[in-house]
Amino acid sequence: MKPTIEAVLTYNLSLKRTVEPIYDYLYTTGQEILDKYNPCKANGADCVAGKGKRCDHCCGGCPYLGDEGCTVKSLWCKLMLCCWARTQSPEGEEELKTLREQAAHWGLLGYRASKEDTFRHISKTIRRMRKEH
Ligand code: SF4
Ligand code: SF4
Repeated sequence: MKPTIEAVLTYNLSLKRTVEPIYDYLYTTGQEILDKYNPCKANGADCVAGKGKRCDHCCGGCPYLGDEGCTVKSLWCKLMLCCWARTQSPEGEEELKTLREQAAHWGLLGYRASKEDTFRHISKTIRRMRKEH
């Protein structure tokens, strides 16, 4: 069950400790779906869509993109496919969509956000709300 903001404020719950296992579960499950369907037909910076310019390369211009590929753990990126990859694997896209809905429910989908970015944002929101109550 999703902890309400009121419960977090009243009982001093650690939202990070409560939600972090969910983040990791969704991330691992997303990777399993990618491994099963291989919608990108290649890995990371060598993706087929990026090379063929069929649609935007998903990592283009990202500050977290290093020489060897992504340097962070990002749930948003793990669960998103570009338009080309979606057409390559409609089944995989359906399964990822279910995970995206769950991630959104828990407030864990931040565009190109690393895991640290996500929980920093959540902590900031909680601190602000504590001050307001
Ligand atoms: S989602 Fe598209 S752009 Fe991103 S790695 Fe896969 S094929 Fe490339
Ligand atoms: S955070 Fe996302 S967009 Fe940025 S390098 Fe990593 S996978 Fe690519």
